[in-house]
Amino acid sequence: MSYGANFDQLLTKYAEVIVKVGVNIQPGQELFIGSPAMGNGTSFEVATLVRKITQIAYQEGASLVHVLWDDDEITKIRMQYADPSTLDKFEKWRADAMIACVENDGAVMRIYSNAPDTFSAMDPDVVAKMQGVSTQHMIPYREAIGKYQPSWLVTAAANPAWAKMIMPDLPEDQATAKLWEVIFKTCRATEDDPIAAWQTHRDMVEARGKYMTDKGYTAIRYYGPGTDLTVGLPNNHIWAGGGSVNKHGIPFVANIPTEEIFTTPHKDRVNGTVTATMPLSYSGTIIDDFSLTFKDGVVVDFKAGKGHKILSEMLKRDEGASRLGEAAIVPHSSPISQSGLLFYNTLYDENAACHIALGNAYRVGIKNTNEVSKEEFAALGGNHSMIHVDFMIGSDKVNIDGICADGSTEPVLRNGEWAFEV
Ligand code: ZN
Ligand code: ZN
Repeated sequence: MSYGANFDQLLTKYAEVIVKVGVNIQPGQELFIGSPAMGNGTSFEVATLVRKITQIAYQEGASLVHVLWDDDEITKIRMQYADPSTLDKFEKWRADAMIACVENDGAVMRIYSNAPDTFSAMDPDVVAKMQGVSTQHMIPYREAIGKYQPSWLVTAAANPAWAKMIMPDLPEDQATAKLWEVIFKTCRATEDDPIAAWQTHRDMVEARGKYMTDKGYTAIRYYGPGTDLTVGLPNNHIWAGGGSVNKHGIPFVANIPTEEIFTTPHKDRVNGTVTATMPLSYSGTIIDDFSLTFKDGVVVDFKAGKGHKILSEMLKRDEGASRLGEAAIVPHSSPISQSGLLFYNTLYDENAACHIALGNAYRVGIKNTNEVSKEEFAALGGNHSMIHVDFMIGSDKVNIDGICADGSTEPVLRNGEWAFEV
């Protein structure tokens, strides 16, 4: 298929953004492309991009590039034809390979390129069971990431099935070409100098984060249609965003694209009701038309027009699955939001709208907690869970107030846009 004369050039610039801004590979470093988690491997459809990433990584001095290929069709075949009693088996060697790379100071990345509803037609019990097994086996990997703090990245590539879901009225070819266009634009590969454009963007996002961190609000309140949610914030919380820094002080950008600033909510101080403003694709199943009610941090009630069962399973996954692990702010005018598309993909949709996440909290959201124990982090308000699932709660009708220690409030977001200058 052909996408026009400059497609190859744009794909190369995109690969450069991934290698030089995203993982920011350093001479001698290994790079791991893919993930052992169910539905998270590198699909064969992105081979052209993977080859470009590999080339640029070696040109930048990478010592070894690992690629973990995966195929959702193979997973579906297993779901349909394997003896159900064997579905608790997991390819542990895949997780071990990734952990070895992280232990060896390597960078890790994955390229999202699946149909968001890829497992929708499968038996939901089987999907939930396999998802549970995969999540369980990923614990050592997540611990290794916490311990070694490597550079990591989640990014995306167009895929015909995904494109068709986003733009059902277009023929598949045109939808795929259009999705690539949106990816190139929102990831700044269309800029003359994408690397410089990313630096400017990072600086702006980081200035917003610093403003919010310096304010030291005790809570923020999201309110709009169907939503009035107060999210308590721990002492010494940090609003992160833009870029990150790995254990060796090397900057990287963990999500490409990224527009959000985010922090760690206090796991026991979330109260009120929140209504999702976009559907959520979880484990290849769509959850839609849903709302959650929190009391003292815990989901005490929920509704879902679609995907009720998978949402209910998700909330019961463990103790922390029904508490918040992230609160994020994204202006409605973000380039991803301006595309006017619903992506059914968290990386894209979460950078189009304000969102919160159920489950595990990022250490980066509370000052000086990288080295503290799970118990100490929890005592400060940080949630712990096997899951981290973002869902969108923002729109042009959502407002946010910052709540000060004396109970007074300040505008943070009005009708989806920033209410302060930096
Ligand atoms: Zn987020
Ligand atoms: Zn998140």
